[in-house]
Amino acid sequence: MKNTFFIKTFGCQQNLADSQRIASYYLARGYRQTNTMESASEIVINTCMIRQTAEDKVTGLVKNILKQSALRARGSLSRRPKIVITGCMVGMAVRDETGKYLKALRKRMPEVDEFLPLEEVGFDYPALRNDVTHSWVPISNGCNNFCTFCVVPFTRGREVSRPFEDIISEIKELASIGCREVTLLGQNVNSYGADLVKNSKGYKLPNGRLVKPVMVKHLGRYRIPTLFPYLLEEVCKIKGIKIVKFISSNPWDFSDELIDVITKNKKIDRNLHLAVQSGDDGVLKRMNRWYTREEYINLVKKIKSKIKGAQISTDIIVGFPGETEDQFKNIIKLAKEANFAYAYVSKYSQRPNTAATKAFPDDIPHTEKERRFHIVDQLINHKGNPRSAVH
Ligand code: SF4
Repeated sequence: MKNTFFIKTFGCQQNLADSQRIASYYLARGYRQTNTMESASEIVINTCMIRQTAEDKVTGLVKNILKQSALRARGSLSRRPKIVITGCMVGMAVRDETGKYLKALRKRMPEVDEFLPLEEVGFDYPALRNDVTHSWVPISNGCNNFCTFCVVPFTRGREVSRPFEDIISEIKELASIGCREVTLLGQNVNSYGADLVKNSKGYKLPNGRLVKPVMVKHLGRYRIPTLFPYLLEEVCKIKGIKIVKFISSNPWDFSDELIDVITKNKKIDRNLHLAVQSGDDGVLKRMNRWYTREEYINLVKKIKSKIKGAQISTDIIVGFPGETEDQFKNIIKLAKEANFAYAYVSKYSQRPNTAATKAFPDDIPHTEKERRFHIVDQLINHKGNPRSAVH
């Protein structure tokens, strides 16, 4: 059917939230959304690049769309749908000044009709939500941290925070139409507003309070204070909102102010996600993570002692280049000490343009990564005893 679209989303909640704005962008251009791929004249694929397998799924889907539409077209005049690629793969292509990544994309998927950068959609289109009872609300986009394994700063660019007032008015509007639960989203959700504070002589909050760009020391580094604790406080004051969640937070902006705000506000969910990535200081350093295992553990202890009922989940990568058996065992030790509620465990995978890909050989064999993955996954997510499996 003419002027109809279907969106297929890969990846994280941030991508799901982006797809809701992409849907609005299409509606504003007179398109209608369909429930199936087969009935759409335009298929938009919102992509993820966190691992090679995520990219492979996109390539596979494009081939499948072509195959299916060729079968349907047999003996009829129906045309194949237009294929539009957006999200992280396009983000990487537009930021890669050498143009090599775009060239490689075109070579891999010559049938793709359009590469749509998310910047064209922006934040101005209201998210199209099927059910507002629980709503994802992006508050920032991008990342400045350049962890050596991570592709996000290359796909989404530098961190940009949405204006404080825009977020509050969006959530007030959502509450007025029945939203009861919000999840605030950002690659580093608790870094929210550091760019707003830094880029001016301070940031004046809607209540008149001025947050100055003075440096504060946290986990061994000096940081610009973020606006996240103030934003959380304001969100909690919104009538009708009963539960406030946020993902994904980093350890270096999990400040005492943030802990205090969570402690005081019962609306804030006690399931907190705090990515650690490794349990070994040497590996953390090569990952360009800004803390030691001890600092991380102390932070977890502080959070658990101050916030009643707090449960910590995390992200862990096994098989990072050069990770020795002893360094791997430090992940096990840290996991036992932190007593994580659950963990997203992943096997290291080289990502284009990242420092780790350029600087370190991917030298842990796949079977060994598998073994380490199962041990950590079993320990944290299935509460197994890994001792017998560790050599
Ligand atoms: S792992 Fe997180 S903090 Fe590190 S570069 Fe990626 S998005 Fe940024």
